Amino acid sequence: MAAQAQYDALLAHVKATIALSQVAGLLSWDQETMMPKGAAVQRGEWFGAMETAIHARQTAPEIGEWLAALEGADLGPEAAANLRLIRRSHDRATSVPVDLAVEIARVTSVSQGIWARARAEDDFAVFAPTLARVLDLKRQEAQALAKGGDPYDAMLDDYEPGMTADKLERLLGRLRHGLVDLRDRIRGSARRVPVLDHHFPEDRQMQLASELAGAFGYDWNCGRLDKAVHPFSSGSGNDTRITTRVDPKNPFNCIYSTIHEAGHAGYEQGINPAYLLTPLGRGVSMGVHESQSRIYENQLGRSRAFCGWLFGRMRDLFGDFGIRDEDDFYALVNAVGQGFIRTEADEVQYNLHIGMRFELEHALIKGDLSVNDLEAAWNDRFLADFGFAVDRPSNGVLQDVHWSVGLFGYFPTYSLGNIHAGCLHDALTKAVPGLERDLAAGDTGNAIGWLRENLQQHGGLYEPTALIERASGRAISEEPLLAYLEAKFAGIYLS
Ligand code: ZN
Repeated sequence: MAAQAQYDALLAHVKATIALSQVAGLLSWDQETMMPKGAAVQRGEWFGAMETAIHARQTAPEIGEWLAALEGADLGPEAAANLRLIRRSHDRATSVPVDLAVEIARVTSVSQGIWARARAEDDFAVFAPTLARVLDLKRQEAQALAKGGDPYDAMLDDYEPGMTADKLERLLGRLRHGLVDLRDRIRGSARRVPVLDHHFPEDRQMQLASELAGAFGYDWNCGRLDKAVHPFSSGSGNDTRITTRVDPKNPFNCIYSTIHEAGHAGYEQGINPAYLLTPLGRGVSMGVHESQSRIYENQLGRSRAFCGWLFGRMRDLFGDFGIRDEDDFYALVNAVGQGFIRTEADEVQYNLHIGMRFELEHALIKGDLSVNDLEAAWNDRFLADFGFAVDRPSNGVLQDVHWSVGLFGYFPTYSLGNIHAGCLHDALTKAVPGLERDLAAGDTGNAIGWLRENLQQHGGLYEPTALIERASGRAISEEPLLAYLEAKFAGIYLS
């Protein structure tokens, strides 16, 4: 068979697998938004059946034969990128022994419940034996994937291909120094940020959320907005859905969750439609995905210019809500607090949370830290980086679900997203000179047009690092992020 025909047959197989994965994704969306409570067990059976079907397709022996036949074939850059991605996913799916994969699925299906109980009881000892088991299994899996290389790098490769622990240590280490220094100066500032005390009706918040998603380029013809306990976006191509949550006392939860998820969804919606259902037709990595959600949310959505517009819209919708003017509103939206919880952290301290999780999980995977010593290590590091002590495990080592379900190597992608967003924003401000004026009018069109043109449309065509460097015109570095944070927060707190 000619190379083109082999490639077409392979791609047809992969497209049908991707279609099934998207159906499974829709079932997850439904579970978080619409599913009747009583359907949970039945849904578990659906997921199991889908997983079995998808795994069988991903490990089908024909894939190996097609890939071998296509070795060295030249079918153009898009086919080459598809083949690279198919090869990687086939390698990963076939490297892990089946009984190990089954055991990981079995253990992680119950470990999340044990973590939730430990968190509710505020007792790390309830969770520690389960975490030790999950860690042991994930280390075995990483060793199988690494094929003699570094196990933690193999884990990273699942979420951020090409990234290594060595590179992360350097990036996040330098970021940490800059952030601790900035945070200390902010804490010494006499500037007091106003406090919000008002009731914001749910229907108006949802109205504003819809308006904001639209203002950030979300295509309503190919999406929808619903409520979920933990906001997320799901899907790709022409069915990309977002969720948000509503707290009547704190509208910023809804507002910035919506903008964040519109960033994830906008990336998926912005990919070249010709890539639909192929490996190229989705965001290239978790870090690049997070760069889009964070630049929408922070560099654009929390900018002084956009806050001026948002303040006006909120006054229209909610009346006088006790904030005097645009400057006070901007300071409120960007307030640097003193909290324990990563998901509630401000832009200055967020990456300190990620840095400590990265170093702790890296030590766990390397075997330098045991699960029994994890809680103490967490508390020591938190005190060193945040300047105050963890008061209880649910505010400390038990706050995040990730490790309970075996997500090691995932946390760093949050910081990479912020670092990437810093690089992209630096290039964006130079490429779109009227950006401030646009944002002050609530208009993100030129900014998002630039992101779409330079990054989003490419989907999986380039590797993550190459994509960011190509779009931002520079090597990946924490410097633009630190410079942006310094300028912004010095303006609010130190002037
Ligand atoms: Zn995100």
